[in-house]
Formats: sequence, structure tokens, C-alpha cells
Amino acid sequence: MIRVAAVAPDSIAADLGLAPGTELLRVNGRELSDFLDFEFLTADEQFLLLARLPDGEAIEFDIERPEGRPLGVRLEPPRIRRCANHCDFCFVDGLPEGLRETLYVRDDDYRLSFRYGNFATLTNLKPRDVQRILEYHLSPLYVSVHATDPLLRRRILRNPRAPEVIPQLQEFAAGGIRFHAQIVLQPGVNDGPVLERSLEDLYRLDETILTVAVVPVGLTSFSNHHAAREPAEAECRAAAEAVHRFAERALAERGHRWVHGSDELYLNANLPLPPAEWYGDFEQAENGVGSVRYLEQRIAAAGPLPRLEGRTIGVLTGAAMGRLMPQVLHTLSAATGARFDLTVLENDLFGPSVTTAALLPGRAFRRALEGRDDLDVALLPAEAVNDDGRFLDDVRFDQLTRDVPTRVVLSYDFADALRESRLGP
Ligand code: SF4
Repeated sequence: MIRVAAVAPDSIAADLGLAPGTELLRVNGRELSDFLDFEFLTADEQFLLLARLPDGEAIEFDIERPEGRPLGVRLEPPRIRRCANHCDFCFVDGLPEGLRETLYVRDDDYRLSFRYGNFATLTNLKPRDVQRILEYHLSPLYVSVHATDPLLRRRILRNPRAPEVIPQLQEFAAGGIRFHAQIVLQPGVNDGPVLERSLEDLYRLDETILTVAVVPVGLTSFSNHHAAREPAEAECRAAAEAVHRFAERALAERGHRWVHGSDELYLNANLPLPPAEWYGDFEQAENGVGSVRYLEQRIAAAGPLPRLEGRTIGVLTGAAMGRLMPQVLHTLSAATGARFDLTVLENDLFGPSVTTAALLPGRAFRRALEGRDDLDVALLPAEAVNDDGRFLDDVRFDQLTRDVPTRVVLSYDFADALRESRLGP
């Protein structure tokens, strides 16, 4: 059973009399267990929907809808599938107290993997889940592999019951399911020959594995540093070299590079980032793979930017992007005539080892902007704020804008904010 959270006005659902609180029970006689059932079973133009209205009355609706016209219901959020693993490097275990409640949920949910690109380990699948993935053709999915050796993978996941990942992927491959994979690199655990074997095993699955990302493990000050450590420069360099060898082979044999190191891997290895063409369609940009090049491409694709001579634009970011930002800002300065003032923030919530801008707390931005009345506008990374307008530490963005003496704008790629007419002279 799933429940309606909201009904769009003038929609089919509103015409039928569905209201918030209505329970959606069956479609064409098939029970609805979540949003996936609902979306896939109501995809046809005609279907029978059994619903129980908030007053308790159960009605079966014979629904016909023109192609493309949505039913007009928003469902209550699904119950998230919890993770059955206990990785030493688990980010959730490394969170301090007092953050947004949802951050403490260790999700491992193939449905969110399909819908939002969340990585899942596939270690908590029941036979019915496998059947649904195949029936609904949930592809591509994002899978955390870490190592293909079954025993080692169980050790990394701290889950003695984790099924073998390669046979699992092969079963899905037979049903046409494709995957983007990631390997979170732990030095002395799954790097070196283990990394080579994992890449080889994944490569042999042919087109089943669309891309692979190799990402160095990231720990916070609150992580279990006795159990895990971050790779040193030489270890990142060795991993980047392994990535390059496989990427060159894939390029020669398949026409695309297939495997990529995350930006963090190159930064930690003290190596230059590969050029944009290395990353293909930037399929794992949200996983920190090619995100800098992706940003540069978005800026270039935005076309001519407004002239902003005499303006001073503050740019606030984390240490990871901070190292690369001068080259981006130089380009922006040449294109607009504005002066860009870069502030690189240390993450005082998770500790200085967490360098990504998306994980910066609101209080860090607020502190950095206190007394900054010399800026015409300050640009903050939009990824640091969730859909409810809150930073990780629950600071509200709208409150922040009132707390500081300069205008503050969230921006994904600078071009979006610079195009705003109010920034112009
Ligand atoms: S798979 Fe590991 S890292 Fe991911 S949520 Fe589970 S325990 Fe944490």
C-alpha cells in the first residue's frame, strides 16, 4: 500500500476525488508496494486502480488517460531500505551529532539507485527485488563494488552474508540491466593487485558495466581511524596509473575510456586532472568524477556572459575545488571583467580532511561572510543546500541571507548566477 501526499489541481486524480491520505492499493489487481509499482503499473493509458479514500471507502477506478498526461498525485516518501553492511569508512558512522536527521540514514536501496543514482551494494536484495529489477528493467543501476574477490568484499563491507557480486551482476546482465560501478579505494586493502583484479573482472562483463569510478576513501574527524586510513600521494598515484592503463585499453578496444579516477584521486596524487574529453558524457560527475571539467564545460556552454566591470564577486568553496578554482575564475574574470574574490573554507564540522564544497556547513559560510560588505554578491555552491533549503548543519539558506551584509546567491556553475540581471551594472 502506498499513500497519496498531494494531488495536483485540475488533474485526473483531482477529477476522481483522490485526496491526500488516499491509500492506493492495487493496479489491475496487482498490489502496490511502493512508488516503483505505481509508476510502472500505471504507465499504460488504461488501467484499474483500487484506492481507499480517507473516509475509508474503497473504490475501483477505471482510468483512461491521454498519453503523457500524468495522473497528478504525489506519493508519500518511500520507506528507505537500510544498509546491512558496516564498512569501516562509512560516512554515516563518521558524522558528528546534531546534523539533519535524514543524514543518519544508511540507505542501500536499489530503487533510489535507479531513480537518483545513489550507489547501492545489492547485498540486501530479496528474490522479489531481483525479480522487480528485471521486470521493470531498472537500468542503469549504480553499484558499489569495492572489490570483486568475494571474501575481501565481505571484509570491506563487514557483511559475512554479502553475495558474490560478479555472479549477481551476470544474472542482471542476462536481463539487460547495466551498471555504473564505483570502487572506494582503501590503501592496503583493495588497491594494488586487488584493484587490478577488480577492474579486470568488471571489464570482462563487457557492456554490462558502463563506467567505473575509482574514488579514494574519504574520512571525517569522527571516522574510525584505527580501522581505515586515506591513501597517501604515492598510493593515489599508483591507483591513477592503474586507471590509466585500463582506460587506454578500453579506449583501444571499445572506443571509450570506461574507467575514471575521481578528481580527488588526482588532487591527492598531485597529478593534473585529465582533459574534458577523457570523461565521455560525465556519467559519474555527481560522484566527483570529472566534476571540475564538467563545471568548465558548463561555463563554456553558457555562451557570452554579461559584462560586470567594477563588480567584486565573492566565491566560496571547499578545499578540493579551491585548489582548482583560480583557473576557472581567471576564465570568468576575462569573460565578464569582474573581480573574483575566492574564499576557501575548511570544514569545521567533519574536519579538514573533508574538502568537498557540498559538505560544507552553513555556519562556515556565515562566518566567512560576516562583515564582508565589500562584495557585490557572494556565490555559494548550490550542492551544499538540500531541497528544503538547509545546509548539512540545519542552517537555513534564507536565514543565512539575512545574517550577512552581502547578497548571497546559490550557484551550480557560476554562469547561472552571473546571468542574473541584478548582477549587472
Ligand atoms: S555500504 Fe558501507 S558505506 Fe555505504 S551506507 Fe552501508 S556501511 Fe555505510
